[in-house]
Amino acid sequence: MADARTRPQPDRESEAFWSGLAGHRLILQECRECARRRFPRMPACPYCGAEGGADVEATGAGTVYSWIRVERALTPNMAAEVPYVVATVDLDGGGRLHARLHDPGAVTIGMAVEAVYVDHHEGWTELRFVTAARGGRR
Ligand SMILES: [Zn+2]
Repeated sequence: MADARTRPQPDRESEAFWSGLAGHRLILQECRECARRRFPRMPACPYCGAEGGADVEATGAGTVYSWIRVERALTPNMAAEVPYVVATVDLDGGGRLHARLHDPGAVTIGMAVEAVYVDHHEGWTELRFVTAARGGRR
């Protein structure tokens, strides 16, 4: 597993996201004007320019937009983790982000996924995705 060197360092903009994950909730920012969701948080909407935004909870369901399989560890502390898959996920309700797939065996573009929360013993929680349950989303 990841060690302290990979532990996130939340700042003013990312604190809501990381504290949400600690509670197994996926928090995104939603524009008060155009209602589009975005990640990461930012001071103004990249779509319409409205300042600020509201923190909203996503269901965690989404669709794989793209993905890569990492075969070589980029840093020595990730050597035990390879190979692993990082996916770009379009969330239901809006918003796109990147995260590891927890069950990367048969990843395909357009695959339905849902969020899972991995609590690391170093005291932080990682967002990952798994293949959505067959027959629909929760
Ligand atoms: Zn907007």
